[in-house]
Amino acid sequence: MTDSAVVAGSHAAETSRSSSQAEILENFVGGRWVESNSREFLDVYNPARGEVIARTPLSTGADVDAAVAVAKKAFPAWRDTPPVARARSLFRFRDLLEQSFEELARTVTAEHGKTIEESRGSVRRGIECVEVACGSPSLMMGYGLENISSGIDCQVIRQPVGVCAAIAPFNFPAMVPLWFLPFAVGTGNTIIVKPSEQVPLSQRLVFRLLEKCDLPPGVVNLVNGGREVVEAICDHPEIRAVSFVGSTPVARTVWRRATHAGKRVQALGGAKNFVVVMPDADWDRSINVITESFYGCAGERCLAGSVLVPVGEAHRDARDRMVASAKALRVGDGMEEGVSMGPVISARHRERVLDYIEKGVEEGAKLVVDGRKISVAGSEKGFFLGPTLFDDVRPSMAIGHEEIFGPVAAITPVATLDEAIEVMHAHPNANATSIFTSSGKAAREFARHASASMVGVNIGVAAPMAYFPFGGAKDSFFGDLKVHGRDAYEFYTDKKVVISRWF
Ligand code: NAD
Repeated sequence: MTDSAVVAGSHAAETSRSSSQAEILENFVGGRWVESNSREFLDVYNPARGEVIARTPLSTGADVDAAVAVAKKAFPAWRDTPPVARARSLFRFRDLLEQSFEELARTVTAEHGKTIEESRGSVRRGIECVEVACGSPSLMMGYGLENISSGIDCQVIRQPVGVCAAIAPFNFPAMVPLWFLPFAVGTGNTIIVKPSEQVPLSQRLVFRLLEKCDLPPGVVNLVNGGREVVEAICDHPEIRAVSFVGSTPVARTVWRRATHAGKRVQALGGAKNFVVVMPDADWDRSINVITESFYGCAGERCLAGSVLVPVGEAHRDARDRMVASAKALRVGDGMEEGVSMGPVISARHRERVLDYIEKGVEEGAKLVVDGRKISVAGSEKGFFLGPTLFDDVRPSMAIGHEEIFGPVAAITPVATLDEAIEVMHAHPNANATSIFTSSGKAAREFARHASASMVGVNIGVAAPMAYFPFGGAKDSFFGDLKVHGRDAYEFYTDKKVVISRWF
């Protein structure tokens, strides 16, 4: 998708005035659950069953205005609340998330489709963000130096920036908003969260827990919706900071529009991740994590392996082992224990991935595992696709170049490690990459020269850890400060320098 397609594209046309009788969700604004002003709704599906389970209101600019007004009103008192008292609310939040762990994981699987084990993992990663943010009183400390001149001291203090907003994608319904909310709130900001309209239920549950955390009304707000909400957030003069996670064209547009309106912005975009396998890789210990990288979460991870790049003699093993492990995956309803891959998010997305498979065949790649005709007994209406594998994919082919975001893996063989690094560098996205090797030298060269900023060595998914920064490079990231870790404290605070002399 190009930027102009994003601007001109009719996101609204993709939504419809829903006719189903499923529950309409509410927004959480100023400490209360409230109806959106909108009369437009999007059906939310359980993708394993193909059934509508809720309706998301496509909130309006007026809904955003109302949320910003209460967030702005709440800000001065929250900013002045001692950091340790703010942290106590986060400790409570962490306990409540722990108590609701299984319910939250099941909600993620119900609305997204990923396996229950994957959902549990993502909820765990989200809770870890809250745990790190509980340390805000230490982590947001400034620094100082006495006697910068005779009798004069200098001190740096960090202060919250004001009303912040976080806009999330569909693929991690519970976790992604938790990359932002705990850090924003712990540092004394107020926040508006906009979940993906395709998966709003996990955040409803998260906000029901936040309701019990003694947070003053207006500190945390939830506005459901799509493009109109995002645009209102970008333009609103009272919002100081915007965090976005989603596809590259929208990330770029949000970054341009919100920075133009004077905000600080971090916008995480899409990916095409290269997994390099050297001839000396330990296949027996690596094949499971490589398979999981490509097909886990049905390929709907921004850190998913997309292109397997075997170097030299590794090609035959790479193909044979991937064929065997892809065929061994059990596709089904993610809620059932033992299922290794769930459905994709929607019927429309399934069609999009199918189009890519057709293109791969037309462009002459070798289809060695074909997942098009899968059928899951008992879930015939689900949005399933089987694991699919292409060999001999050239970087110029659509499947070798574009983000598919589905269970379709490409193998692009190369002769040398340098060539593998060149293939990666030629791609505009640079989110994550991995190398599998027994050679420390090869691993070091690879890590030094990789364009992506998340690098795995014998690791399938170089995943975000709450206490480290996370975010890609090139067209996978727009902004300066990355997500969580110490960067969160830079992003959510402004530094003030106080120089003082006492007579
Ligand atoms: P998306 O870009 O379609 O949507 C993301 C958010 O933007 C949603 O909240 C949506 O409502 C809003 N949005 C969609 N179209 C818009 C428009 N035209 N104008 C304004 N707002 C709009 O992304 P998605 O399909 O929900 O998520 C998948 C994408 O997110 C993939 O590209 C994936 O790589 C990326 N992603 C990246 C990371 C990362 O850390 N870099 C993490 C997760 C997902």
